[in-house]
Amino acid sequence: MAKDELMNYEKSLEQFEVVIGLEVHVELNTNTKMFCGCRNEFGDEPNTNVCPICIGLPGSLPAVNKRAIESSISIGLALGCEIAPTGRFARKNYFYPDLAKNFQTSQYDEPIAFEGSLDVEVPSGKSFTVQIERAHMEEDAGKLTHVGGSTGRIQGAEYSLVDYNRAGVPLVEIVTKPVYGAGAEAPELAAAYVRSIREIVKGLGVSDAKMERGNVRCDANVSLRPHGQEKLGTRTETKNVNSLRSIERAVRYEIQRQAAILAKGGSIIQETRHWHEDKGSTSSGRPKSDADDYRYFPEPDLVPVQPSKEWIEELRAKLPEKPADRRKRVQAEWGFADLEFRDVVNADLLDQIEETVAAGAKPQAARKWWTGELARIANSQDQDVTELNISGASVAELAGLVEAGKLNDRLAREVLTYVLAGEGSPSEIVAARGLEVVSDDGALIAAIDAALAKQPDVLDAIREGRMQAAGAVIGAVMQAMKGSADAGRVRELLIEKANA
Ligand SMILES: [Zn+2]
Repeated sequence: MAKDELMNYEKSLEQFEVVIGLEVHVELNTNTKMFCGCRNEFGDEPNTNVCPICIGLPGSLPAVNKRAIESSISIGLALGCEIAPTGRFARKNYFYPDLAKNFQTSQYDEPIAFEGSLDVEVPSGKSFTVQIERAHMEEDAGKLTHVGGSTGRIQGAEYSLVDYNRAGVPLVEIVTKPVYGAGAEAPELAAAYVRSIREIVKGLGVSDAKMERGNVRCDANVSLRPHGQEKLGTRTETKNVNSLRSIERAVRYEIQRQAAILAKGGSIIQETRHWHEDKGSTSSGRPKSDADDYRYFPEPDLVPVQPSKEWIEELRAKLPEKPADRRKRVQAEWGFADLEFRDVVNADLLDQIEETVAAGAKPQAARKWWTGELARIANSQDQDVTELNISGASVAELAGLVEAGKLNDRLAREVLTYVLAGEGSPSEIVAARGLEVVSDDGALIAAIDAALAKQPDVLDAIREGRMQAAGAVIGAVMQAMKGSADAGRVRELLIEKANA
């Protein structure tokens, strides 16, 4: 595959205005699927959660999952949308092996929610209002696994496997209107928008919202037009990008790729594109015209969805606070400086820190553990820090042990590795492994005396005010006690001894 020519990013923005549009699919965490009673569960044995309805056997009759409608209405309300008093499902006809029915049941011209907006803050601190066009319900398709090729794609594969467990899982697709004016920050805005959507659905409790599991997936539309031109440029749609970082990179890549083509007088092909995480580039998918004809027609087997006003108001009353409001509140409560707070938000650690503080940790201690040692460990394991096997309560306990002087930093880091390995809570590990800081004077004095025997000049040096000489003894005591000595107490004892 020929490598794309890219224009320098700043130069691209000098010549063109960026317009983006985002389609986010949210998988709902209902107990059962959208139109049948099969379990909606990630990771089960392939093709065990299936029935005649979700594999589309002739004569099977679907029924709408009430809980899925409730979740969809809540999402719509949280995005400030109008909720449609009546909405029909439609059949979107196409053939694909992961779609056994040969049509996807979706909402077409009557989405359940429409005309909303969401305020989104980008890492620089600037805020943008993203207009939401619609949020509609649909069902997910099954999952294909292409085996034998080097890329995991169908091209070059020896055979493919299909798992229908995901077929019929409820989805809400949230579509923005074109987003203008973000300029150089368009990639960051795209990622921040998806982060906010994720926060909303997590806050509502309607989705597990794990991007790495595909609970939240984003299709990113990008087009460019010369500054001052009214008509929108031709857009590309990069499909199924499943991490915030990838969304940012994919949008940036498309801006630079399209700018290089347009600057040479070329034209952009309206198509879907695939994002390649490893290469950091996109490649051509299938052509996509605006007039794709899926022969939508109303689903004859389902009655229209007609939520009552009372039900909608009941759900509105239960909405959690908006992400932007929550951020303002917790930042004030925690007393974080803007930069500290932005680091936390950009590292997706709001939930973790909130949980840790709720479990009794001081906000700054919680922040330091999560953005420091835990982020470092996750990074070294090529993992997301939010995926580490540790609860906020454990981090709070660890911070508490340090604050009480029972652990020093080194011991706390050691205890942390055992917590992550699943050995138990910090207190349990300290007890089981005998890792507590030794501040017992008797043991410390014995170790100090042993160290002084090898460095007899140190006491004189301290008496003369050369305190740096104490470091060698403290170091020796630490070493002798395998890092478990209370360094502050060793220092005090040493000074007492010098001045005795
Ligand atoms: Zn089923």
